[in-house]
Amino acid sequence: MLRTHTCGELNMSHLGQTVTLCGWVQKSRDLGGTTFIDVRDRYGLTQLVLNTDTDATLRETARSLGREFVVKVTGKVLERTSKNSKIPTGDIEIAVEALDVLNEAKIPPFLIEDETDGGEELRAKYRYLDLRRNPLRQNLMLRHKIAQEIRKYLDGLNFIEVETPVLIKSTPEGARDFVVPSRMNQGEFYALPQSPQTFKQLLMVSGFDRYFQIVKCFRDEDLRADRQPEFTQIDCEMSFIEQEDILNIFEGMARHLFNTVKGIDLGTFPRMQYADAMRLYGSDKPDIRFGMQFVELNDIVKGKNFGVFDNAELVVGINAKGAASYTRKQLDELTEWLKRPQIGATGLIYMRHNDDGSLKSSVDKFYNEEELQKWSAAFNTKPGDLVLVLAGQTDKVRKQLNELRLEMGSRLGLRSKDVFAPLWVLDFPLLEFDEESGRWHAMHHPFTSPKPEDIAMLDTNPGAVRANAYDMVINGIEVGGGSIRIYDRALQSLMFKHLGFSPEEAQKQFGFLMDAFEYGAPPHGGIALGFDRLCSIFAGLDSIRDVIAFPKNNSGRDVMIDAPSTIADAQLQELSIKTTV
Ligand code: ASP
Repeated sequence: MLRTHTCGELNMSHLGQTVTLCGWVQKSRDLGGTTFIDVRDRYGLTQLVLNTDTDATLRETARSLGREFVVKVTGKVLERTSKNSKIPTGDIEIAVEALDVLNEAKIPPFLIEDETDGGEELRAKYRYLDLRRNPLRQNLMLRHKIAQEIRKYLDGLNFIEVETPVLIKSTPEGARDFVVPSRMNQGEFYALPQSPQTFKQLLMVSGFDRYFQIVKCFRDEDLRADRQPEFTQIDCEMSFIEQEDILNIFEGMARHLFNTVKGIDLGTFPRMQYADAMRLYGSDKPDIRFGMQFVELNDIVKGKNFGVFDNAELVVGINAKGAASYTRKQLDELTEWLKRPQIGATGLIYMRHNDDGSLKSSVDKFYNEEELQKWSAAFNTKPGDLVLVLAGQTDKVRKQLNELRLEMGSRLGLRSKDVFAPLWVLDFPLLEFDEESGRWHAMHHPFTSPKPEDIAMLDTNPGAVRANAYDMVINGIEVGGGSIRIYDRALQSLMFKHLGFSPEEAQKQFGFLMDAFEYGAPPHGGIALGFDRLCSIFAGLDSIRDVIAFPKNNSGRDVMIDAPSTIADAQLQELSIKTTV
């Protein structure tokens, strides 16, 4: 070893010892005769003191040092005269006897400090330097700790970690596949897994019983703050279980992680039906850190000659408690915000419950005080409250009101990053209709089992069939989802039929799984949790990017290594591929 200690561990108990440290120069201050240097490694920062008056070699070397030079120092641990209580090594300093430059460094393109001056693009290009900064290092250390705790918890419950292949064929999970051309099989392509779904099910057929894998998944979809083209799942599957078992074991895992990593007791997770989540929050991943539940108003507002409400399928609102002080200007601005194409509302109607007890709405022409009293009762308003109402087609208006609810929650300070509100959302629909393709799609994936009592409706009312599917949601973020699977050929074929596959297509794409079901497939089910998302929640971040060592940007590019990039003609030829761009 080049060093005896790290830059984060020396304290008063080491006084008088001669030690050797290695690290990067954080900064250097020449006070004429004495030079102070802060040297940093992943464990911390230690102050070096150099008597440059008496030692000429030391003086030369000290003068040559720049930020981020890599150095090795040997010296004695001394008590500091002016201590720094903010860092663990703040009581001591090293009186340097020997200083070696192990490597020089160019001036870094941005400050390697907690608060940096580097823009996002620049830091992405020099990600390896950005990763030297404390906040990012801490995120990755947190990620490591969570991963270890996951392994400990699952290993303790007899789960075994099995790796599944990365070059596979398409597993439909609702996104586009990334594909890889095969040189040895000209004209043919592998797909990268959107998840190891079919493989983990096959492992159940093989009798492995309890499987997990912390695994990369690949989905070619439009990127957002919480999406990356490659991301990591905690993928799990179990045999001989019921939905209740999965919920208990993985609720237990989330509790274990919050407990061990954050010292927080999450308690028992509430459970909500999908239909209730949509009705009360307009979202299948409700943020229940705050109430502000939807109140439907059709019964009390229709038939009063107000066309907007009379013609709407659903009139629904929220009570933004304490927001009655919103001015006309703020309400106009909120209306404009709702009308942006991203949200698409046609307008916003409001009612103020004034401090003097009077009720004042933007539709006073149609609703007198007596009518507004009914609104007030429905929303249980108190003086100071502001009721916000939207009207329109049910699905659309719920989505819009969900956005408004989250926005008001944020504005009213109800969404603290230090509060954690988990829940299970249960009984998702099996199918959803896709307007674009005019077909039914599996809401979760095609291997999810329908509730047995709903199977008969597959022909008559497919949209009403419920699945044995569940999502884990924390603070409005879907952290995981899974289902109890189909495990017999007949039902799996029926499912493919309803998804618009011909028997031949189903056999070609998923014959391997259906064949396996004929060789003694156990009842099974599972779940996958988004590891990056979980880490970002723990770290209090909005984006998953900073819990990933080398993430892609919004256009799916890694600007550090410059990928994706074109490849040599010879490579294309070898693959018999011609590009047209
Ligand atoms: N494979 C699913 C997904 O990636 C999870 C599961 O059903 O276990 O969402």
